[in-house]
Amino acid sequence: MEETLLPGRPLSASPRVVLRRILPFVVASLVAFALALVGPGRMSFGDLAPAIALEFALVAVVFLFSLAGSAPSWVQAAPALGYYFVVYLADTGSTGPRRGLAVLGVLPVIWFALYGTRAQLWAGVAGLAAVLIAPMVFIGPPNYEIEDWHRVGTAVAVAGLIGYVVQRLVERLREGQQHERELLADVRIVAAAQRDISSDARGRVCEVACEVSGARSAAVAEVGDDGLLRITGEFGLPELRDLPAMPIDPASITGEVLASGTRHFVPDHRVEDQVKTRLPVMDAVRSILWEPILREGRAVGLLLVGWEQQLSSVADRKVEIIGLLAADAGGILERGDLLDRLEHQSHTDALTGLPNRRAWDAFIERECAVADRTGAPLCVAMIDLDHFKAFNDARGHQAGDELLQRAAESWASALRSIDLLARIGGEEFVVGLPGCDPEGALGIIERLRALTPDGQTCSAGIALRAKDEPIAELLGRADDALYTAKDDGRACARIAA
Ligand code: GH3
Ligand code: MG
Ligand code: MG
Repeated sequence: MEETLLPGRPLSASPRVVLRRILPFVVASLVAFALALVGPGRMSFGDLAPAIALEFALVAVVFLFSLAGSAPSWVQAAPALGYYFVVYLADTGSTGPRRGLAVLGVLPVIWFALYGTRAQLWAGVAGLAAVLIAPMVFIGPPNYEIEDWHRVGTAVAVAGLIGYVVQRLVERLREGQQHERELLADVRIVAAAQRDISSDARGRVCEVACEVSGARSAAVAEVGDDGLLRITGEFGLPELRDLPAMPIDPASITGEVLASGTRHFVPDHRVEDQVKTRLPVMDAVRSILWEPILREGRAVGLLLVGWEQQLSSVADRKVEIIGLLAADAGGILERGDLLDRLEHQSHTDALTGLPNRRAWDAFIERECAVADRTGAPLCVAMIDLDHFKAFNDARGHQAGDELLQRAAESWASALRSIDLLARIGGEEFVVGLPGCDPEGALGIIERLRALTPDGQTCSAGIALRAKDEPIAELLGRADDALYTAKDDGRACARIAA
């Protein structure tokens, strides 16, 4: 992978990349050397050898630095600057003839434009100027006329301008690349976070929004069928849960975002007139984003995100990443709702709406564990409608269904919230009564029996859980007690031995 270099940052690159990058100075030095050894006024080998040796030494130093880790920016610049000595000597030689090799001094300017910082670019331009001016000062006419200054000035200005333009271009390219890379990283973060959104989709979307954007808090607000806006999920804002459903003011930011489906960002809500509703919870944040949640192109809600620190603009990466998340939020919420419905369905009896056998199994396991831990009593009761077959035969299956529904409803309404009534068979029900001894349980069951609708009756068998008794055994004893009740003439409850 190619290294990233933004101006002012030290270069960090693999030794191979660094070597490839400084190789032009080795090649150019050798070319300058070769050119200086031929033609009129040619130099002797020894005249240029020290400069070449210096250049090679600088290249070696940079390479060694990069082997050890990363070469500091100015160390990497050393071969480019040292190269000016080579050019100067090759052009002037010890005798001072003019060979026109000073043009080779443009290489470091281009090199700094590509790899260096702004300061290094100007150092390169200064080096070029020095290579061109020094012979005029130190050697002078006839080969180096002072009157040549305007040509020197033009060459330096043109090289500087080209260098600057190239460097700006390179910076832009790198910034673009960097931005793309960050965007890709953001997409990965959001995708990974979305994959594990399985329960409480709304709360998780808010949590993920904060996770990926460094926000302090987030909330999901949704428009109900009644046209009112409700907070349906939050992270870091528990006080929002108690907020009542609100009418939507079309002139508010919320109203506008819902109507237009486009986001609205406020860098500092305290100095923004358009923010009409100021909730106390907003005191903790400064920048706020109203991000629409779209379903089939229509805004069905909002993702509200608040940052403690002030973000400069909507173009901030932290704001953009929320856009990525919100783009899928509609689907995530839909999926979450579907999962919730499936979850609910899998634990609910379709006819009566009561918890089903699966829900009962989970409940009783949990309550047995609690009873074992606390030593509190736990009773279960089996309830069975009496002569239900006869009821069906006489009044029809539909009426039987309705009796089951009404019985379930009236029994469930008479229980405490910690109790659980489940339908586990055709006209068989089970009740879990945590904290109840058999006498207490009997009282409750007698109350339920009295509530059986349509003048029908039911029988019940109650069992108190013995310490460490397996659940199947406990239910078996309750069932036995139920059969005793049936044998005793029905319309009664019996407690298991
Ligand atoms: P017992 O007093 O001994 O409990 O007599 P029973 O008639 O209530 O008991 P039995 O087990 O003989 O019959 C149960 C009946 O419940 C048989 C079946 O038709 C009816 N049943 C089971 N599930 C449903 C249901 O979902 N809807 C309706 N309408 N009837 C059901
Ligand atoms: Mg029955
Ligand atoms: Mg039965």
